[in-house]
Parts: sequence; C-alpha cells; structure tokens
Amino acid sequence: MAPSKSFCAESKKDVDPNNNENDSLKKTSKLKFELPANYKYEVQECICFRPKAAFECRRCNHYICGRICEVCQQHPMVTFLMDFHCCPCCSAPTTDIKLSQLSLEEIHKIEDGILPGDNDDFN
Ligand SMILES: [Zn+2]
Ligand SMILES: [Zn+2]
Repeated sequence: MAPSKSFCAESKKDVDPNNNENDSLKKTSKLKFELPANYKYEVQECICFRPKAAFECRRCNHYICGRICEVCQQHPMVTFLMDFHCCPCCSAPTTDIKLSQLSLEEIHKIEDGILPGDNDDFN
C-alpha cells in the first residue's frame, strides 16, 4: 500500500498537471493585461490651439507675430487662415522663418515704432 501511494504522489508531481494549468493560465491572463500596455498608441499632440509666438524672417529680418502654419496630426484637415504659410513681407518659406528671441511685446513695440504718424496721415 505504502509504495503505491508514494508512486502515485510522485507521478503526480512529475506530470504536474495543476502547476502547468496554473502557469498557462497566468501566462494568458498576463498577456491579456500586457497587450493594451504594450500597444503603443502614439499620442500626437493637438497643435490647433497652440499659442502665438514671435518669429523672425531670416531673409528680410521682418518680425512676425502669430503662428507658422503646421499640420495638426490629430486634425490634418483643419487649416487656420491666420497661420503664416510664408513670410508676409518677402514671401520666404516657413523654413526661413525662425523663432525670434524677442517677445511678442517687444516686437509690437518695434512695429509701433516703425510706423509713426501713419494713422495721422489717414485721419
Ligand atoms: Zn488639432
Ligand atoms: Zn521675410
């Protein structure tokens, strides 16, 4: 009796049906949980409502306040008419327009200074 019992237990240990089942169950459940985490949804930031910035044309040194036209990866069909497609002064492509180190305020001051008395003439 005793030897057969131990044999039974040993064979059970060898086959390990319980353990295998648990293992495979763990693996599948783990896989299920890992799938969404592994699935990289690349979040492209919406740039539609990015703030205005100060730019400077490298060709004519004209200061530009606003936004350079960029395609929003989330809304590729959306265009903003106010965005610059090129330099408004010399039509240089946006590749020639760089971010200015001046603030918008400083540029506004410069622009105001460039056009003195214009309003008086019109009035
Ligand atoms: Zn967008
Ligand atoms: Zn320009």
